[in-house]
Amino acid sequence: MANIRFHPNHDLLSHYACGELESASSIMISAHLDLCPHCRQKLASIEAEQASELEKSEPAALSPSLNAMMMEIMAQDCVDIPVLDEAPASQLALEDKAYPLPSILQRHNDKIGPWSRLPGNIKRAQVDVSGDSQMNFIYMDSDSALPEHTHQGQEITLVLAGEFYDENGTYQPGDFIVQTEKHKHLPRTRDGQDCLCLTLLNAPLHFTSGLATLLNPFSQLFFRR
Ligand SMILES: [Zn+2]
Repeated sequence: MANIRFHPNHDLLSHYACGELESASSIMISAHLDLCPHCRQKLASIEAEQASELEKSEPAALSPSLNAMMMEIMAQDCVDIPVLDEAPASQLALEDKAYPLPSILQRHNDKIGPWSRLPGNIKRAQVDVSGDSQMNFIYMDSDSALPEHTHQGQEITLVLAGEFYDENGTYQPGDFIVQTEKHKHLPRTRDGQDCLCLTLLNAPLHFTSGLATLLNPFSQLFFRR
């Protein structure tokens, strides 16, 4: 996964480390960490920092031995996040294909709904997560496109397999792309190249281009519970 170019920012990782993110966002970060040694390392140092802050701010709170144990536990947490290849055979099946599930979802694969077909060679499987957000696996067949859209609110996309591209670049496995109201984009796949993503929306997509505005009810498909 040497080609990962888009990562969760420092704030997100830091909130993740503190357990301050809603569970859906934590799942997205955790799935990225599966694929990204760079962020696993960054998280380890954030956790070490937080541990030493804790030590400074509450010197009397922890006895030296308990403190040492805490440090050890935290260090362990940082290092051993399972790598997809070594994970138990819990997979996401789609027709004749099977993809390794992010490790955090392997314990919750009962929360993953069946695949449904959307316009434009797109397939979607909803993930039932708590909170107001909408999580989906999105599969784009080769040479397919989502209508151009903006976002009301925030959309996080994590590429799990294959690649897609838009006006701003090409996205590959591990890439963690955060988009807000400011972004307008047209995700598509190249001929012969499909793509599987995990996406998290906290508001419906809003389509902007001519014909696609007719498809605005389509955006509700992405957000329907
Ligand atoms: Zn990363």
